[in-house]
Amino acid sequence: MSKKRPYLTKTDGDYEIKVRVKAGCLSTDQLQAIRDISKDYGRGEIHLTVRQEVLLFNIKEEFVEQALKRLDAVGLKGGSAGFRVRNITCCVGARCKNCAWDPLLLARELDEKFGEMELPGAVKIAVAGCPFPCNRPQLNDIGIIGRVKPYVDIDKCDGCGRCIEVCKMKAITLNKQNKAVINQKKCKLCGRCMLNCPISAISAEIQGVTIILGGCGSWPAFSGEILAKMIKVEDTVPLVGKILEYYKENAQPEEKRLRPFVKRIGIEKLRKELLQGIEVLM
Ligand code: SF4
Ligand code: SF4
Ligand code: SF4
Repeated sequence: MSKKRPYLTKTDGDYEIKVRVKAGCLSTDQLQAIRDISKDYGRGEIHLTVRQEVLLFNIKEEFVEQALKRLDAVGLKGGSAGFRVRNITCCVGARCKNCAWDPLLLARELDEKFGEMELPGAVKIAVAGCPFPCNRPQLNDIGIIGRVKPYVDIDKCDGCGRCIEVCKMKAITLNKQNKAVINQKKCKLCGRCMLNCPISAISAEIQGVTIILGGCGSWPAFSGEILAKMIKVEDTVPLVGKILEYYKENAQPEEKRLRPFVKRIGIEKLRKELLQGIEVLM
């Protein structure tokens, strides 16, 4: 049963079902169904994985199909195992006070287009709202991180200093005229200053996402390499599609993650191959 469906794992005679969770969000109906399935067929306990999936334990073989049907009825499916695009994780997004856009929308769109796509290896994708990323996209095969280049309207700034308090990089000072000045060399393009300025004197000069390739969270963990420092959010889905197709066509049998693939081909060549037709903003 489990060979064709790698999201089913047999342990001590019972089955464990791994359930995909789009962008880490579950509706109350889905939560109720998970609760009922676990109570009726399982152990009455679930586990939330680091990839934001739900694991249902100790499901008796005779109840597996029924459990999958009940999941399907609320839009949930088994998945995120084997050589394919794994569950796409996302931070809490625009509900976070430090987030200048909505990464959940992008994560959902990526899931619609590429979720469970079969590939030569496992590809893990994570989307984060800002470059102080809670869900560690830099340790994923494809990491996507929201970025904002802030611009201070000097005429508007009243020198309150709030942006200085929130900047983790100590990139902002007040000049002699009591106006905020950003040191671009220190700035990590997070957008917190913009979000926290009480009179909206800071706006986004450029906004987009950084794309990182070939990260790996196993031991030892490796950060991926930057494919593009900033591209438009709307170019992300086409670019991820290109990356996955390129991997599909060019991976060697032993390249079961993007890291060895990226190392063999080289990030410079990948930039040339993959960024054609994509506007790189920075
Ligand atoms: S990654 Fe950034 S935007 Fe997302 S929840 Fe964490 S701090 Fe907020
Ligand atoms: S965008 Fe730059 S200046 Fe503004 S808070 Fe982030 S690091 Fe500091
Ligand atoms: S928070 Fe806004 S008004 Fe206050 S110093 Fe910074 S830019 Fe100026």
